[in-house]
Amino acid sequence: MASVDIVDVQKSFGSHPVIKGVNVHIEDGEFVILVGPSGCGKSTLLRMLAGLEHISGGEIRIGDRVVNDLPPKDRDIAMVFQNYALYPHMSVADNMAFSLKLKGAAKSEIDARVKPAAEILGLTNLLDRYPRQLSGGQRQRVAMGRAIVRDPQVFLFDEPLSNLDAKLRVSMRTEIKNLHQRLTTTTVYVTHDQIEAMTMADKIVVMQDGRIEQVGAPLDLYDNPVNLFVAGFIGSPA
Ligand code: ADP
Ligand code: MG
Repeated sequence: MASVDIVDVQKSFGSHPVIKGVNVHIEDGEFVILVGPSGCGKSTLLRMLAGLEHISGGEIRIGDRVVNDLPPKDRDIAMVFQNYALYPHMSVADNMAFSLKLKGAAKSEIDARVKPAAEILGLTNLLDRYPRQLSGGQRQRVAMGRAIVRDPQVFLFDEPLSNLDAKLRVSMRTEIKNLHQRLTTTTVYVTHDQIEAMTMADKIVVMQDGRIEQVGAPLDLYDNPVNLFVAGFIGSPA
């Protein structure tokens, strides 16, 4: 695991600024949630951490490395997306092994990583199935499995539960938290769901319109929101 530092990070698309100078320090092993309304820049910020978008200004550090110019594969991160497209023609095991195969890992190494990941995620008996034979929750677990096998320093999640029904969403919250506790990997998790943020985060970062409104532990934000926006968003009276 590793700390993550976001230092005065900015991003413009053309002449349109969408991230307007953001600073966040994330500790080793911390579970940090970025929340804010749709369009405020959560995904863009996460994609910059992943190296999927260039940053227009500032610095991103993972551990003690500045990663601004590193491609995604060299950042020691793994990202789980909202639309976790699994390869339909590949089994669960092959979906999980895909990135390792791309890197040219030996079969013995692939087995040594896929098996324990499958065990952690309760997928051991499903390794030979194909995505169409899985439930939504099982598919989401395979998507997480693909990330875990890479043994990253940092996990990034972009609204991983938003396509699941309400009941499954609640149980997957617990699963993701358990996973985090077990792997102790630094995690940055994006959601627009206040309850998800309040129940899962060590630390919440509240964003609005490309800026950070407040950073704090869930109860800090609840008890001491700095303004009406945070109060309204977190759900407490100001
Ligand atoms: P969120 O994830 O919080 O909903 P996004 O990071 O997706 O927000 O988007 C933030 C802003 O950046 C939005 O106004 C969006 O339209 C804009 N945006 C995101 N990606 C692009 C892009 N590739 N080109 C132009 N504008 C973009
Ligand atoms: Mg988004």
